[in-house]
Amino acid sequence: MRVKNFLEDMVREELNRLLAERDDVCKCKNCYKDMVTHTLNRLPTKYAISDLGTVVTKFHLTKDQLRAQVTVEILDAIETVKKTPYHEKKKK
Ligand SMILES: [Zn+2]
Repeated sequence: MRVKNFLEDMVREELNRLLAERDDVCKCKNCYKDMVTHTLNRLPTKYAISDLGTVVTKFHLTKDQLRAQVTVEILDAIETVKKTPYHEKKKK
């Protein structure tokens, strides 16, 4: 669970940073949560194993490389939510 929390923290931190530069995306609570979930779901489950140190070593990923991967998936999540905002999806 520690890895998941670590990843989620990293995702939230990066998402906050990226969203600060975006005025074209809804940032309501539901859309924000949807972006976090979307990002976490798309990140390879192999990250969500046991101890981050072990996982990173096993897949030869540095923390920076992991962060780069996280950023790619966040950008995808932002585009997805932008096209179909969570609050609209709910109504349909
Ligand atoms: Zn919204």
